[in-house]
Amino acid sequence: MARRILFLGPPGAGKGTQAAMLARALKVPHISTGAMLREAVAAGTDLGKRVESVMAAGDLVSDDLVVAIVDERLGAADARCGYLLDGFPRNVAQAMALNDAVVNAIGTVLLIEADTDELVSRLLGRAVAEGRADDNEATIRRRLEVYEQETAPLVEYYGDAVIRVDGMGSIEDVFSRMVLALAG
Ligand code: AMP
Repeated sequence: MARRILFLGPPGAGKGTQAAMLARALKVPHISTGAMLREAVAAGTDLGKRVESVMAAGDLVSDDLVVAIVDERLGAADARCGYLLDGFPRNVAQAMALNDAVVNAIGTVLLIEADTDELVSRLLGRAVAEGRADDNEATIRRRLEVYEQETAPLVEYYGDAVIRVDGMGSIEDVFSRMVLALAG
């Protein structure tokens, strides 16, 4: 099974949850730019201070900053035999930077899809459960818009490498579907 996998899909589709489960199964690191940026904000680092308001508004952090943290993370020893990328790239410019950064470009792109109503209700639910600063209604709408404008074009960019997975239903159902799709 491919060990360099990229997760695409709108906010709320379940990328983070599914990537974490698959990373455990494949024994490769789960690299989430959103999680790394949230850690920087929580730790109050210079990076965190620079990105906090952009993230709270639901907009994308600048490509330079994100590409630099991904570049550094992919250079770590544990990423040598593979990794799952969750939340990166978010636009074509980042995808092109990734091709420069990785010797063996991404082999598999998993696209997790779900209905918009389902996405919004999951994100509002997560707002209550996890208290993420960007899971309020206005920001959720903005993040869905940013996904359509900036990130959705990557589906075409990656073309035949994209495997579509239906993200509706339970976490376990989606995981089984995803593993079957990867094996097929
Ligand atoms: P996520 O956890 O992937 O939903 O990301 C949360 C927020 O972090 C996004 O709304 C962006 O503000 C920021 N972010 C995460 N990944 C990226 C990226 N690759 N490029 C730009 N901004 C990002």
